[in-house]
Amino acid sequence: MSVRPTAFGPDERVTIWHDEFQHGGSVPLADVKQTKNADGSPNPFWLELVCPATRVNARGQTVPCGSVSLHPVGGGADPVMVQRLFVRAIRATRGGTFREAKVVARNLIETVGELHRWRLDDASDDDR
Ligand SMILES: [Zn+2]
Repeated sequence: MSVRPTAFGPDERVTIWHDEFQHGGSVPLADVKQTKNADGSPNPFWLELVCPATRVNARGQTVPCGSVSLHPVGGGADPVMVQRLFVRAIRATRGGTFREAKVVARNLIETVGELHRWRLDDASDDDR
C-alpha cells in the first residue's frame, strides 16, 4: 500500500502519501479514478491513486512521480481510510449524501463477499 490516502479536506480533496519516496500532496476527489477492465469499461471495485508529487530522475530532471497504487473496495491494509476514499469518490461523481454513498460502497463490498470488512457507520451522514 505505497500510494495511500491519509486525510480528506472539506474542499473535496484527498491528501495522498507515497511511502516509498516519503512525499505526497493532494488531489481533487474527482481525479481519483476507477480502474479499467480488460475491455476498457470502468471497474467500480477498485480505485487508482496516482502520486501527485514530483521527483528528480537520474538525469537531474524534475518529473511527475506518477506512481500508482490500486485499492480494493474492501480496503486492503487500511479498510477505514480506503472505504472513506470510496465513499467520498462515489459522492464526488454521483452527488447525493454521504449516507447514500455509503450504501453504494457497502453494496460493492457485499458483492465481492467482503462485507465483514465494512468499517463505516451506516447511520451517520458523514464519511465515518
Ligand atoms: Zn510519489
